[in-house]
Amino acid sequence: MANALAASGVTLVGGKEWPGGDDGFRAHDPRSGEETGPVFYTADARAVSAAISHAQAAFARAGGSAPIDALLAVADLLDDHATQIVAQSAVETGLTRERLAGEVARTSGQLRFMAELARRGERLDATIDRADAAAGRPELRRVGMPIGPVAVFGSSNFPIAFSVLGGDTASALAAGCPVLVKAHESHPATSELCGRLMVRALEDCGYDQGWFALLQGRSRALGQGLAGAPQIRAVAFTGSLQGGRALFDAANRRPDPIPVYAEMGSSNPVFVTAAAAKRRGGRIADALAASLTGSAGQLCTKPNLIVLADGPDGEELERVLAAAFAAQPVQPLLNRQVRDGFLASMRAASALEDVVALSAQAGEAGGTRNLALTSSSTSEAEGSFVVGGTLLGASLEALLFHETLRAEHFGPGGVVVRCREEDFTKVAERLEGSLTATIHLETEEALTWSALVALLASKAGRVIVNGVPTGVAVVRAMHHGGPYPATTSARDTSVGAAAIDRFLRPVCFQDVPDALLPPALRDGNPLGIWRRVDGELTGPASAV
Ligand code: NAP
Repeated sequence: MANALAASGVTLVGGKEWPGGDDGFRAHDPRSGEETGPVFYTADARAVSAAISHAQAAFARAGGSAPIDALLAVADLLDDHATQIVAQSAVETGLTRERLAGEVARTSGQLRFMAELARRGERLDATIDRADAAAGRPELRRVGMPIGPVAVFGSSNFPIAFSVLGGDTASALAAGCPVLVKAHESHPATSELCGRLMVRALEDCGYDQGWFALLQGRSRALGQGLAGAPQIRAVAFTGSLQGGRALFDAANRRPDPIPVYAEMGSSNPVFVTAAAAKRRGGRIADALAASLTGSAGQLCTKPNLIVLADGPDGEELERVLAAAFAAQPVQPLLNRQVRDGFLASMRAASALEDVVALSAQAGEAGGTRNLALTSSSTSEAEGSFVVGGTLLGASLEALLFHETLRAEHFGPGGVVVRCREEDFTKVAERLEGSLTATIHLETEEALTWSALVALLASKAGRVIVNGVPTGVAVVRAMHHGGPYPATTSARDTSVGAAAIDRFLRPVCFQDVPDALLPPALRDGNPLGIWRRVDGELTGPASAV
């Protein structure tokens, strides 16, 4: 039976509640737009400084090891408290309980996955090249070492899986780096509940509380301060292009620039060939409608741009897609900023020449705004965050000319273009870096599309054939990243085993005596991990 867990409006530093702070704020219930829950205070400079000191001390004491047992313990605690956390999160985000329950399962699974990777030393890339006297080469041993305290920015759209206990936190801790989380202001109570679980897990397993701090706040200064703090060695972020870029710039202005792993906006284009539209247009349309509107379109992998081969089958697919889109349930958006941003971006796109509204979600009577609003305002201070989605249709020329049509529209909306198959390449060439790129094709025509697939691979971190981009599996082969502006570091991923690599820095030890080496490199292989010795992969039981 899980112990009761309650949010009281606190920041957590050194395992303790931090009293007070700078200006107060409350979460909003997206269904009504009304304030909800306790007042939270933005963590003040003293809280940040104390959290950093605790993190540094914990890091120094750990000697390069990761708090593996705490990752496992917090995964169990999260599962035990799933009902409470889902209920709290539903109030603060407006996301469905079903979706949030899935997030809890994904998050606890991810915590266990990261713990297992840390236990196996899988991402350390421990490599030993013994001395070669004949060649006059010294002994060289290389391993990934944790970089130090990391600042993690919780996202608004994944209140559990990309927030306090999410992938960035799990992978940084698995690397052996203490974490300071800047909670997202939209769901502070959910963040507090998750933070309390981490504190409890550290305590139960006898770890230093400096491994984790939860900093509440609605403040650019807090985020900027973390990115600029000399002791912080990396930043992990999920959110807007503006926010990610601002933190990237702040980190690069430092006398000692640090990496910022920011996952930001992405167009996630989908191409559908004439043959695919002919054979299974209806199924593709249904899948795309669900992918466009699931979680109210607030997924980083939501398809924003759908390119259909022109012709009767493409036209029919567009018609079925429009009908399926209109029938999807309307949900609230996460917060006022997301709502206003979505309305502004869709209104800007719809006002362009050669752009028409193909479909609008009907929504509940009286409670729904959508793009068909006659109002030209992009900010509606009052009322719920429920917005009916809109699907736009644009000409090829308009798409190629206007960046707005190729950009992310964060919310339940997207742009459909019908054009000749010969023009698919022209569209792909105009696209910026993206997390994903998708093509629907028939097997017999696959080779026809090899050049387009190669082009898409140069633009995106994940290329999908005959699927939808939403849904990101937490497995070793996943890459959730992409060229700028999808992320600030195209070679890195925020999901999957390689997410740990962001927080490890390779160090090569030359002719260093065994007793002075990190355990991962010692002769006896005391950690029992896979290593590469003189070019050969050796198992956990192998010593040098
Ligand atoms: P956001 O505005 O980028 O905020 C995310 C976090 O970064 C918050 O904690 C925020 O702090 C902080 N932050 C933002 N700008 C900052 C700056 N200049 N300096 C320091 N810290 C900064 O993202 P959001 O609130 O989640 O949503 C806003 C928009 O981001 C959405 O409308 C959508 O367009 C986009 N978004 C995209 C994705 C995606 O996966 N592609 C996900 C989420 C959001 P404060 O709030 O305390 O200022």
